[in-house]
Amino acid sequence: MPKTNRQEMLDRLKSKVSNMGLGGNYWKPPDGTTVIRILPPVGTMEWFFQEAGRHYDQKVACPSVITDGEEPCPVCEVYEALTNAGESKAADAFRPGRTFYMNIIVRKEQAEGVKVFTPGAMAFQAIFSIMSDPDYGLIYDPYEGTDVKLTKQGSGMQTKYTALPVRKPAPAGTDAELTEWLGEEVDEELILWSGGTAEDLSKKVLEGVLSYEETLEKSGVGAYLNGSAVKEEPDEELPWEEDEEEATPADRIRAKMAQRKGVTKSSGVRRPTSRR
Ligand SMILES: [Zn+2]
Repeated sequence: MPKTNRQEMLDRLKSKVSNMGLGGNYWKPPDGTTVIRILPPVGTMEWFFQEAGRHYDQKVACPSVITDGEEPCPVCEVYEALTNAGESKAADAFRPGRTFYMNIIVRKEQAEGVKVFTPGAMAFQAIFSIMSDPDYGLIYDPYEGTDVKLTKQGSGMQTKYTALPVRKPAPAGTDAELTEWLGEEVDEELILWSGGTAEDLSKKVLEGVLSYEETLEKSGVGAYLNGSAVKEEPDEELPWEEDEEEATPADRIRAKMAQRKGVTKSSGVRRPTSRR
């Protein structure tokens, strides 16, 4: 898809979603064990979760993670260029962090309805390990699925998550509750629902994603790149250059870094002719 069409699509989607009045009802696991029920995908969600990426230091959502790499991300490009250049320590500040949005019910707060849980990789893997066990499988099935006992221990960087299935499968809620939470059933076999009070988390996550250019500006990565003395290439491609292979931003970063290294090295042997 050409970039302009993608941008239009993203803009239209963002304006639609911003008019949907999506409220945030995020759930943060307390210390100790909490019994939760994961709800099935609704609306445009492909899975029961929606993966999202964020560049925490740059305070921007990553357009690349949510689209499985289809949309380019300038911050990821800096991260990759630094990694490829062997500057892994400097690269760390640009690495995308991953979270997984999912609709859940907290059993002891069931009357409060659907909440959004955004576990990181560790808690997500703990939950997913239950699904890898054929005895449990699709634990988010609203009729035959299984509740999860999620345990949080420690805090900060030492936080540990473990997840265990409860003993017996059970419906996620009464028929009335299921209708309220999940709306009209779309496809029983795929367990895909239209969504009642459960949010379409794919749309919700996409709402926070900016275009490549906006991400470039907001993240400050453009300024980082322009810190080099090298002038940016003009954006517009000249007609006679059309057939030439386009350098990716990652290529440009690599070239700039190589030039910077060259400048540092050559400065040691530069003769002080200008002063005399
Ligand atoms: Zn990124």
